[in-house]
Amino acid sequence: MPYGRGTGALILGIIVAISGFFLYNHVACTVVIGEFCLEPYRPYETVGLLMMIFGGVLFVVSIILLAMGGRTIAVTTTPPPSPTPSKGKYCGNCGTLNPFEASYCNSCGRAFAEGSQ
Ligand SMILES: [Zn+2]
Repeated sequence: MPYGRGTGALILGIIVAISGFFLYNHVACTVVIGEFCLEPYRPYETVGLLMMIFGGVLFVVSIILLAMGGRTIAVTTTPPPSPTPSKGKYCGNCGTLNPFEASYCNSCGRAFAEGSQ
């Protein structure tokens, strides 16, 4: 699996961000009367915020890395645009290497068919 590491970081970033979100929204009470909370506060507000930022950054970085990885793979799998013309072409009759633009074989004079190599 070529995207293993990047995908792992991506999922980790999401998990950390979501965990941070829940921590951030976690409300505790200092003074509770019956079912009512008189002084609600968020004990993990800072930690949750940091986790959301960290998870978000990890998520974005993973996306970028995945995009870069995909581009690299796309380049490597793309065939060369054209067969290298500098190498010339071999005569089908005698096998002599001739210049690519040659119309006739330099050795035996056999005519090259148009578009053949
Ligand atoms: Zn030839």
